[in-house]
Amino acid sequence: YAAKELKAGAVVFQPEVHATTPVRLSVLGDLRRALDNDGELFLHYQPKVALDGERIEGMEALLRWQHPTQGLIPPGEFIPVAEGTGIILRLTERVLDLALAQQRCWVDAGTAVPVAVNLSTRCLLDAGLPDRVQRLLAEHGVPAALLRLEVTESAVMGDAARCMDVLQRLHDLGVHLSIDDFGTGYSSMAYLRRLPVDELKIDRSFVLGMTTTSQDLVLVRTAIDLGHNLGLTVVAEGVEGGEHVVALRALGCDVAQGYHYGRPMAAGPMSEVLSRMGTIHQGQVPSDR
Ligand code: C2E
Ligand code: MG
Ligand code: MG
Ligand code: MG
Repeated sequence: YAAKELKAGAVVFQPEVHATTPVRLSVLGDLRRALDNDGELFLHYQPKVALDGERIEGMEALLRWQHPTQGLIPPGEFIPVAEGTGIILRLTERVLDLALAQQRCWVDAGTAVPVAVNLSTRCLLDAGLPDRVQRLLAEHGVPAALLRLEVTESAVMGDAARCMDVLQRLHDLGVHLSIDDFGTGYSSMAYLRRLPVDELKIDRSFVLGMTTTSQDLVLVRTAIDLGHNLGLTVVAEGVEGGEHVVALRALGCDVAQGYHYGRPMAAGPMSEVLSRMGTIHQGQVPSDR
């Protein structure tokens, strides 16, 4: 009977059992080690292209993990694990440090455009974040306007009051803010209007379907109009084909990001793309900071 009860108890507490399964623990342990190991965690950059003229108006930094035995692990597999613990804060600080160090090189080369870093919900509840961002910008000598922070719709809408203070302080620094994966969360239009954001990114699931599914087309058009009516720049994510570009231009979308223009790539190839395609900020970025 005792054994049976024990077994039943284990079933009741399954979430905790799951949270500490060996796989999860080893990801966390390996991630802690990776944070101390130079080069295991690195960034790829994906261009964001202005649809009127096809010049680069920004880029997104996406985290990559080259695990010593398991090879390249995509962020979808370790970010959610890191989000369950405080390690996401260290990870985010590392990403900011790497992105701003690279951005400094682009500033010096005169080819800098704003670089976007993704923030998890947990980061928006961290009152120390704005000060850390300010310190990192100063350390690397990068103007705040050349950093963009992407937050998901669901993250902000989930606890908008607490996030609002952190977002407002980041905005006051001069950092640009984006709503990521727009359309997949549950939005409150009232909060969307009050948030100090500059950019809205339409989730790629709608963009992919917009040329074949009329509902997706309607959703993309509605998101573009909503964004413009709120004075925001609208970005389409997951732009994979020329037909998407044509459709997005017709709807007045401002910026496109996706495999059509370039997959996420290392900083070296990104530098080549910057000089080949040109940037919309060329010559306007202070290079003496
Ligand atoms: P996200 O911020 O929405 O980033 C866009 C994702 O879409 C990236 O996946 C990118 O490689 C992918 N993508 C870009 N263009 C296309 C396209 O045309 N077609 C398709 N099918 N996919 C495209 P990735 O790099 O695997 O990142 C996945 C997610 O992981 C990101 O979604 C973001 O939520 C998270 N993530 C990545 N890096 C970080 C980071 O440094 N910190 C945090 N907190 N999250 C991150
Ligand atoms: Mg993003
Ligand atoms: Mg996104
Ligand atoms: Mg996404």
